[in-house]
Amino acid sequence: MPQLQRLAINPTQICDRIINLTAEQQHYLHRVLRLNQGDRFIAIDGRGHWWLAVLEAQETELFASITEEISVNRELPVEVTLMAALPKGNGFDEVVRQATELCVTSIVPVTSDRTLLKPSPQKVDRWRRIAAEAAEQSERQIVPTIWEPISFDLAVKDCTQKYRYIGVARGDNRHLWDCLMGTGRAGTGAPPLRMGEEEKGELSIALAIGPEGGWTEDEVKRAIELGFEPVSLGNRILRAVTAPIVALSLIGAAFEKC
Ligand code: SAH
Repeated sequence: MPQLQRLAINPTQICDRIINLTAEQQHYLHRVLRLNQGDRFIAIDGRGHWWLAVLEAQETELFASITEEISVNRELPVEVTLMAALPKGNGFDEVVRQATELCVTSIVPVTSDRTLLKPSPQKVDRWRRIAAEAAEQSERQIVPTIWEPISFDLAVKDCTQKYRYIGVARGDNRHLWDCLMGTGRAGTGAPPLRMGEEEKGELSIALAIGPEGGWTEDEVKRAIELGFEPVSLGNRILRAVTAPIVALSLIGAAFEKC
């Protein structure tokens, strides 16, 4: 279905194969995309489903009826949670956009010892909108979840992901690529991540990336105590907004075809 326009909807908008469109969505489909009654588009519910839908009209209201579910396979066979310390300014907008394009499943904005500023609720809403837009444009099947900002300590303590990595810019740590491929020298005891078929459904990765000033030694120590392996992303110091992109690209490269 290459040329059809896509629209992100909430699964609660579907009832008996009818999509109840919000006023904003009606405006977008009709006035912005210039679709009329009988035109088709793809509705994406952000939870993995794509539907082929036809625009219908009843008096001045527009709604859509679903004709079929479209089968797509755009997601990686791993769940990836990015815990990213908030950079200064609007840098996080780009992190959210690009991480969504790459493969992230959820993003936890974290405040750390070197970034104490808690973002406003409006910022969080903005990141959620950016994630939805980026998911739509990348034809993702899911819209990544953007969590409410929490402290780094809480994020690592509550972490349920099976494989946990913390990016540390300096020091002699195993490269993330080696961890993913199970190559290179042994790390802190974490097994290689490239698993057999039977484990795929359970693969979940947490990746913590620090702020401009980096993690404090104490933060790295606490994360290690909670099962995080410190990893390198190469011998250069990357900016806080570049590091997540590099790490997610490596995860994509490691798992795209397995
Ligand atoms: N100012 C710090 C670097 C901070 S970079 C310093 O000079 O040491 C911001 C974050 O990006 C780091 O906390 C780390 O999580 C990640 N990062 C940057 N470069 C990295 C690298 N080469 N390897 C692993 N993580 C890196």
